[in-house]
Amino acid sequence: MANKTLRLILGDQLNSQHSWFAVGSDNVTYLMIEAHAESEYVSHHIQKIVAFFSSMRAFANQLEENGHKVIYVKLDDPDNKKSISANVKWLVEKKDFSRFEYQLPDEYRLDQELSKLSSQLSIPITVADSEHFLTSRHELATFFKGKKTFLMESFYRSMRKKYDLLMVNNEPEGGKWNFDHDNRHGWTENFKASEPLLFDKDVSDIVVMLKKEKIASIGNIDEKHFPWPTNRDESLQLLAYFLKNQLQEFGTYQDMMDTRSTYLNHSRLSFSINVKMLSPLEVVSGTIDYWRENQDAISISQVEGFIRQIVGWREYMRGVYWAKMPEYAHLNYFEHSRKLPSWFWDGNTKMNCLSKTIKGSLDNAYAHHIQRLMVTGNFALLAGIDPSELDLWYLGIYIDAIEWVEITNTRGMSQFADGGLVGTKPYVSTSNYLDKMSNYCKTCHYSKTKREGEKACPFNSLYWNFYHVNRNKLEKNPRIGFVYNTLDKMKDSNKSALINQAEKYLENLDSL
Ligand code: FAD
Ligand code: SF4
Repeated sequence: MANKTLRLILGDQLNSQHSWFAVGSDNVTYLMIEAHAESEYVSHHIQKIVAFFSSMRAFANQLEENGHKVIYVKLDDPDNKKSISANVKWLVEKKDFSRFEYQLPDEYRLDQELSKLSSQLSIPITVADSEHFLTSRHELATFFKGKKTFLMESFYRSMRKKYDLLMVNNEPEGGKWNFDHDNRHGWTENFKASEPLLFDKDVSDIVVMLKKEKIASIGNIDEKHFPWPTNRDESLQLLAYFLKNQLQEFGTYQDMMDTRSTYLNHSRLSFSINVKMLSPLEVVSGTIDYWRENQDAISISQVEGFIRQIVGWREYMRGVYWAKMPEYAHLNYFEHSRKLPSWFWDGNTKMNCLSKTIKGSLDNAYAHHIQRLMVTGNFALLAGIDPSELDLWYLGIYIDAIEWVEITNTRGMSQFADGGLVGTKPYVSTSNYLDKMSNYCKTCHYSKTKREGEKACPFNSLYWNFYHVNRNKLEKNPRIGFVYNTLDKMKDSNKSALINQAEKYLENLDSL
């Protein structure tokens, strides 16, 4: 048998800095596959599928330009065997490969598939690290060994120390670990978002192919003007643009929602980082370097706020995923079982906050964190939606959605379905929070101040009903005591009116 190695590169492993590529070898062939099975395990946003395939094609071209041998199996290739495993098996046999290598996948599903595939191949297998994350797969599980809750803040501090990020003499730079208090400004008329950097590419060839192959998808696309970065060069441009134009007010308006701007000062870097065109370390180091050169214009609170999302939350979510899968995908602490209202798929609801967030998501394959957490997530939790229904929605609709980061954010942070492993209390609110942080309520069909009766904002009664119904599961939580104090002080008649209102809304979710 010839000495020939086949190395598989998955669609979210586009890391040109990986040690695999440091030296070329005539004996190594790289394999990339546009697999039907990967496009169809959930209904993805069309922009998400296009972004993946377009980035994979660009990566394969780059590898070839750098002298590597590449087999690229397009979706409509007549020899495409539809799944990753079937393609690998066929190629190993047909081309007589003597070794198979792959990088650790980030998704449990693919990890299982590749382990199974390995056991079926009769040639030696080597598994390499993806060399992307700042922690190994099980590092967080070891860090929190024996703990009932995994406190993100303590993990984040350990990461700052480990990588010497914003540290001076082993103390946090600026005297504080966390500048949240200075950030997160409410909605203001005076906010001026910078223009986003939108790329402008023609991706119609991929859209035509998807139609031909009858790949089901959701959402909208302007195929002549595709705005997302699909190679490393564009990803670096996006990072540089963010640092120059948006970092200075990133933290301040991080939680604000505004109908005048889709992206506000958010970086839109999640897709580039998640498919590994950018490494998290180069993003945070680059941010700190930029800040050091521009300290007169940018405060540390903006920088710390941004760094925390990446070395804190992102790395933490990945650790939780590997610590708790596969059980995590079935957790449902509140035993919620309602179906997702039909308007989650078209945005046609009278609730302005939800309508704007969902229509924006369908148009752009994007919503920023607070829209995901405090609009769609908040509503779904208050309405008792089955977390599995919701997972499929979040996994399909966002350009950056890959299960390890989607499911931990959705089930854990947003739906409290893990009973408080990730979050210390459920992220729910009445219209008060939404009105403070956005201008949605100003033009809404519903009245933000009304709790019951005609046009009462659904968030208001659903909020109190949620706490009423889940009393036995939440009452002992020390962070929630004030809610039950308020509920207990309410007149019985007021309380019943609220619960009745909520029940009416819950029976008619589709028509809200
Ligand atoms: P910015 O606001 O510019 O933040 C910078 C970077 O920080 C992001 O690019 C991302 O890499 C990282 N980051 C910020 N918050 C988080 C977080 N909570 N978890 C992990 N990384 C974070 N993020 C995904 O990448 N994929 C998902 O599928 C996903 N699903 C989510 C589902 C729900 C219900 C919620 C509440 C959040 C989800 N997030 C997800 C986290 C977050 O909303 C997105 O990372 C962010 O909106 C991406 O936009 P951005 O690049 O402009 O982020
Ligand atoms: Fe959303 Fe209620 Fe405000 Fe309408 S009034 S935008 S439903 S929070």
